[in-house]
Amino acid sequence: MLLTSPWRSDFPALAAFAGEGQTYLDSAATAQKPQAMIAALCDYYQGGAANVHRAQHLPGERATRAFEQVREQLASWLNAGSSEQIIFTRGSTEAVNLLTYGLEHEFQAGDEIVISALEHHANLLPWQQLAQRRNLKLLVLPLDASGDIDLVAAQQLIGPRCRLLAISQLSNVLGRWLPLTELLALAKAQDALTVVDGAQGAVHSQPDMQALGCDFYLFSSHKLYGPDGLGVLYGRGEALQRLRHWQFGGEMVQACDYQQASFRPAPLGFEAGTPPIAAVLGLGASLSYLCGLDAIAVAAHEAALHRQLLHGLNSRAGIQLLGTPQVALACFTVAGVHHSDLAQLLTEQGIAVRAGQHCAMPLLASLGVSGALRVSLALYNDGNDLARFFSALDQALELLQ
Ligand code: PLP
Repeated sequence: MLLTSPWRSDFPALAAFAGEGQTYLDSAATAQKPQAMIAALCDYYQGGAANVHRAQHLPGERATRAFEQVREQLASWLNAGSSEQIIFTRGSTEAVNLLTYGLEHEFQAGDEIVISALEHHANLLPWQQLAQRRNLKLLVLPLDASGDIDLVAAQQLIGPRCRLLAISQLSNVLGRWLPLTELLALAKAQDALTVVDGAQGAVHSQPDMQALGCDFYLFSSHKLYGPDGLGVLYGRGEALQRLRHWQFGGEMVQACDYQQASFRPAPLGFEAGTPPIAAVLGLGASLSYLCGLDAIAVAAHEAALHRQLLHGLNSRAGIQLLGTPQVALACFTVAGVHHSDLAQLLTEQGIAVRAGQHCAMPLLASLGVSGALRVSLALYNDGNDLARFFSALDQALELLQ
């Protein structure tokens, strides 16, 4: 039976893609946007743009109020306690970079930072750079045979010199949830700071900061059906106070003269310059849209599609899945076929999937593959999308194998 998505018509891009013969199966890279979000952007620009936190005039006040309301909305969605714990960044990548500069003073030569073997480059390279700047050790939690973090090895690696643990919530390659409870407990037992990259996880879970108990949590708006150019960084109260300012400019300053300055605390102290105002308002609209959906129905739909995706891939000869994905995506290789040749043939048939190293080169190298294809799903995908994908895949494989 072909699954249908009751939410598909809320996303105008899907109709536009259909008109061009495109099937979009790359939502882990970026998601399409609901009409409600597009309308919020139009309303803001048509109603009158104004800068936030600096003007007394009516448009400025209105923009500031709407902007700060989204911060409140995010704090409540994340169960964060206070909107002062929500910093707007330009994306997940910038949030991690902010942390590596803001926490640099916490580290002494020889201290250890622990990440996992499956991190996206966004949660690897900034820490690698910090380790090089401060002469720190970057330790990597290995995976076991099923692609999960090896918890026995983690117990050994997260030792007394570990000052910080930075890990993903959900892998963008393997599609598996990380054992956050266990890993965060190991790090806290060593009094280490904890950072969770929720770029993929926030899309497929209801993140709860009180329950999770990490020091920092971050995600990107564009993967959560919101505008691009915007990320969200949550910080636990005491951990936030340990952050040093990292970008300097307008509206983050308390007082300054030509030689000296003092800076505001979080969040504004970490939002130097004009923030992405329209994007923040758009994310607020996307979140309102998502919160208005039946979350159980959305999860059930995505799970049913995912089962069909895995079944279809597993039942084709020569296809090798990377790990055993639990949610929303699947990466695979085909014996004797180069991923870019297959991607090319799929592209020619209007199938939008991702091919390559998925910003996780060390992970792919450790799995012994030079690249893989990734199919990723969102709430607007349906059985027709999968049927078109599999038909295109079969044609491509017939040519290539
Ligand atoms: N972390 C993970 C797990 C991701 O999948 C991504 C993007 O794919 C990022 C971080 C980086 O997100 P952005 O490019 O929005 O900064």
